Amino acid sequence: MASKKDIPTNTVSKIKQLRKQEISIKTLVDGIFQGDKAILAQAITLLESSKPEHFEKANSIIEKCLSKPNESIRIGITGVPGVGKSSFIEVFGKMLTGLGKKVAVLAVDPTSTLTRGSILGDKTRMETLAKDPNAFIRPSPSGESLGGVARKTRESIILCEAAGYDIILVETVGVGQSETVVHSMVDFFLLLKLSGAGDELQGIKRGIMEMADAIAINKADGDNLKKAKLAETEFSRALHLYPPKENGWTPKVMSCSSIENKGISEIWKMIADFISKNRKNGHFEKNRKIQNKNWFLQTVDEQLKQFFHQKKYYKESKEKMLKAVEQNKISPFYAAKTLLDNITKELK
Ligand code: GDP
Repeated sequence: MASKKDIPTNTVSKIKQLRKQEISIKTLVDGIFQGDKAILAQAITLLESSKPEHFEKANSIIEKCLSKPNESIRIGITGVPGVGKSSFIEVFGKMLTGLGKKVAVLAVDPTSTLTRGSILGDKTRMETLAKDPNAFIRPSPSGESLGGVARKTRESIILCEAAGYDIILVETVGVGQSETVVHSMVDFFLLLKLSGAGDELQGIKRGIMEMADAIAINKADGDNLKKAKLAETEFSRALHLYPPKENGWTPKVMSCSSIENKGISEIWKMIADFISKNRKNGHFEKNRKIQNKNWFLQTVDEQLKQFFHQKKYYKESKEKMLKAVEQNKISPFYAAKTLLDNITKELK
């Protein structure tokens, strides 16, 4: 997972400088449009803030940024800790900047809230990519929930795209629900796996196999090479058992090594092929529209919840019902109904 150490020091000092001033929306938006990394980082900090006065400001920025879309590609990358995600992103990202692309790396790590920083936050990761002028790396926002982290990351994507980043890599850990969340915000979803001793298909979550547009068997080097090839065959066979995706794409299985820089450009070619096919058959646009609609619906749900949770009458009624449930005076379902009835009365 990207960590704070990934941000170059000159950007950090500029961020500190900017923090001291109350910057106008115009300055922030202009800076983003000019691709100023420090301003982009500052704007992301603003949208990650939970202060109500920052909310409106962040929204105006996002709105302005939405008016400057670019032909970006959003790629989700997942895999268990240790599978080699950051090593892969470093090499993959460098290869892309070498092709003249601007690459932004964002992360969704819901555990960062618990550990106050990414689980791997102490390690310096993606050092080379972080120094690349055409790369922007942002650690996972620390939100109170996965939903909060997801919202902030989605909004950060919009800002990065307005800043001219044409490839957005969203890294996530292969635990819990974070993969589903990242899948819902990207155009292509890549699963990194390690080859084992013939037990590849065990312990793999079915849902992830269905979400993946490709599986890359990582660390296919040295003694691992033979095992990786075997794993490739096994996964290909398994993936063929799934019905083809609606967009006509059959998920691919490849192997790669970040250390030896092998298979990396092949993975990019495969993703580019996927994107070009999906742009032609209309599924690229369709998928983004579906994602936007879902994003809207989720936001409404979240904000409705927030709206009520802040109300005095909600809090009081909830406490009363909780006590009654604890004392077995009322069934949980009836307590919930009573709470909702109380809310409705307040709204009349
Ligand atoms: P992450 O936790 O998924 O981000 O994994 P890292 O990128 O931090 O890598 C975990 C370990 O695997 C590190 O010790 C890396 O040096 C090693 N590693 C990463 N990629 C490769 C690779 O392609 N080949 C080999 N042999 N080791 C690798």
